[in-house]
Amino acid sequence: MKTIGLIGGMSWESTVPYYRLINETVRERLGGLHSAKILLYSVDFHDIEQLMQREEWAEVSIALAKAAALLESAGAELLVLCTNTMHKVAGAIEAAVSIPFLHIIDPTAEAIKRAGFATVGLLGTRFTMEQPFYRDRLQARHGLRVLTPDAGERARVHRVIFEELCLGKVVEASRRDYAEVIERLAARGAEAVILGCTEIALLIGRKACAVPLFDTTSLHARRAAEWALSGP
Ligand code: GLU
Repeated sequence: MKTIGLIGGMSWESTVPYYRLINETVRERLGGLHSAKILLYSVDFHDIEQLMQREEWAEVSIALAKAAALLESAGAELLVLCTNTMHKVAGAIEAAVSIPFLHIIDPTAEAIKRAGFATVGLLGTRFTMEQPFYRDRLQARHGLRVLTPDAGERARVHRVIFEELCLGKVVEASRRDYAEVIERLAARGAEAVILGCTEIALLIGRKACAVPLFDTTSLHARRAAEWALSGP
């Protein structure tokens, strides 16, 4: 089994499920007391969040590339970045290491295509919903059509992530709002919705939604465990 390097803490509320899901997958596959070999570099999210809100992506790249290199030098054999938004700087992270990098979009898009869906709604931070880095990979590499909520809905979805979920707050009114945003995406033609932020599954589960949900945290973490056990 290979050692997985996790770049986490963005926020730590969603890094905890990564740790659990990876270990659960290894236990399901190997049984008994088997567990995953994991190295975790957990950032101080305050610092990264400040840079992100100011869109200082070059500084974000430097910080996360440094974390990646430290994980590799400590023995990580594959790399997992436990946030969707920071995949904006995936290129800089990949360039800093020689170990494989598991891009969060790939296991997600593959699961969507396996389920037979071609048009997906996307929920995430405003960066993920509005900037091309995320949508482009879904479209160009995976051939998926991507719908995003309207501007007012995007602002609300983004606010809930940073003011509630990243702080561990689960608010019933926000859960209802997210369910309604998902319903409107479905009414516009989304056959499924990507939970494209690693905290959203803390708010909204599979049930009572208009369309199937694809949780990036779970798909990414489980694929990481599969990679550790069998290789990319
Ligand atoms: N964890 C979130 C994501 O998956 C948002 C926090 C961040 O900006 O890293 O995008």
